[in-house]
Amino acid sequence: MDKRKVYLDYSATTPVKEEVLQAMLPYFTESYGNPSSLYSIGQDSKQALETAREQVAALIGASPREVFFTSSGTEADNWAVIGAAESMAKKGGHVITTAVEHHALLHTAEYLEKRGFEVTYLGVGQDGLIRLEELESAIKAETTVISVMFANNEVGTIQPVEEIAEIAKKRGILFHTDAVQALGNVPIDVKKLGLDMMSVSAHKIYGPKGVGALYVRKGLALPSFMHGGGQEGNRRAGTENLTGIVGFGKAAEIAKAGLQGHIARVSELRDYFVKEVSARIPDIRINGSMERRLPGNANITFEYIEGEALLLLLDLDGIAVSTGSACSSASLTPSHVLSAMGVPVEMIHGSLRFTVGDFTTKEDLDYTVGSLVRSVEKLRSISSVSKEKGWQ
Ligand SMILES: *Cc1c(COP(=O)(O)O)cnc(C)c1O
Repeated sequence: MDKRKVYLDYSATTPVKEEVLQAMLPYFTESYGNPSSLYSIGQDSKQALETAREQVAALIGASPREVFFTSSGTEADNWAVIGAAESMAKKGGHVITTAVEHHALLHTAEYLEKRGFEVTYLGVGQDGLIRLEELESAIKAETTVISVMFANNEVGTIQPVEEIAEIAKKRGILFHTDAVQALGNVPIDVKKLGLDMMSVSAHKIYGPKGVGALYVRKGLALPSFMHGGGQEGNRRAGTENLTGIVGFGKAAEIAKAGLQGHIARVSELRDYFVKEVSARIPDIRINGSMERRLPGNANITFEYIEGEALLLLLDLDGIAVSTGSACSSASLTPSHVLSAMGVPVEMIHGSLRFTVGDFTTKEDLDYTVGSLVRSVEKLRSISSVSKEKGWQ
């Protein structure tokens, strides 16, 4: 049997689309001017930068002047939450977030705790969603910032951001959301949702790595995080990652034009995969709400086996999947997201995240299901619980 290469880890990162690469190339060697320079080649770069800003703004329903490019989604998260908490420190020092955030946010919140801020980490139900009543009762007079992710990177669950924004607004609290996973997978309109700040990243939407953006609502005086030159309207110093930003713009333009088709196609593939796995492998379970979920995500527990071992067997067949977030997969600490959802530790260890995307085919999924059936059988035949389940 010929070995395929199957990539099912689109939530970790995505390949750069050909049109995105082509849009970027001239800005390496032809139009390489510094966007801050006044002569023509610099102004060409400036023009390209502003076109990209319009493209990203259009994808999220913002005005271009509310979009600030950063080095990553991680930088956008740090800037939003630290900047907002520090600028509001006179009013109070309490921040609310959730236990299921990406490490870019969780570790930023922990940093704030070390700096003397108080942080409340909201729990989630088995479905992976926060409870709005819990959010309301966590709010105190000193609460200045709420940060709740739009969509989760491990289980794909989509939080009720519009409702959270409304609660925050009523209480005069700033609301930030990490929408890195949601961008390009869910229609987003920052105005309709009433958001104050939102983080996004290019490499999760078929753009290049190392470029992100923070949406900051007009009129919100978020202090700069990076100090230096006057780039990005004096809010984010440092010569712009011009090629990366141009690529982000192109990727955003493509995502906007094809959003409904992408959602339909990717969710159909994901549903097909879940159906096949459920029909052919016993003792599995799907983690997280299936209703409020990203189109491409399937997080599955295979009982009685180690997810790491399964991941390695799939890799031998050329299939790339993840045991959770890319950041935690190098360690054996159980996923903080599944823990917060109340999944027992031994089940967490048997969980894998499959994420499909624009280049996934039905054949890729059939091949993966075949490999999964063989690999799960093999691992269960040597596991200690297999005897009592009657597999040996
Ligand atoms: C990938 C990811 C990030 C980090 O974005 P980078 O651009 O890789 O720094 C932050 N939050 C979520 C939810 C992510 O999936």
